[in-house]
Amino acid sequence: MEPQLIDYYNEMPSGINVIDKMNEELDDLQKKYDALEKENPKLQILFNNIEEFNQKHKEMYKEIQKTCDFYFDDNEYKYMKDYGITPRQGAHLFFTIERELYKITENKYFSHINAYEIIKPITRIFRGKKSPHWTKIYNSLTKDELKDIFFDTIKNYIEGDTRYKYAVFKCHQCGEIDYYVNGVNKCVDCCDPDSDEGSVE
Ligand SMILES: [Zn+2]
Repeated sequence: MEPQLIDYYNEMPSGINVIDKMNEELDDLQKKYDALEKENPKLQILFNNIEEFNQKHKEMYKEIQKTCDFYFDDNEYKYMKDYGITPRQGAHLFFTIERELYKITENKYFSHINAYEIIKPITRIFRGKKSPHWTKIYNSLTKDELKDIFFDTIKNYIEGDTRYKYAVFKCHQCGEIDYYVNGVNKCVDCCDPDSDEGSVE
């Protein structure tokens, strides 16, 4: 998928939002993914412990941060004045998120669809001159401050809405597979409610 979208982007260097193109593809992908899910009910990635889960997601955020750093240079920042999130930022953040989700899930439909969902809040809010008060926001914040908002929005979405769609854990006490374990790898049933054993980061 990635090379096609890069070609598309190169053919349409300005004014075209790659995200809109992705949106058109999404219907088709959603159908394929639904069919896939029927065959293979639920995507579940088993993490051996909460440390492994946190480590893998820390690596994911590091890569997303790198992409943010790279595509918030002075040149891109100039275009942000008109566009909000620029086509180049949108496309490369999308590719990075998709690639990082694939590293963990090895499911290309899941990665593609969820990368789109994750980037959507930014593309909906930061529409440049089409968004109310954008010029004021743009003039008030440095490019690094804007970058912080982009990165935080992405990370927050992954933590709140994405990573528990696929993550499951093995309780170190009873051995059951569960959607949640605490900081010492115990499921809810095995947690002692009176003790403070730490929680998910
Ligand atoms: Zn347990």
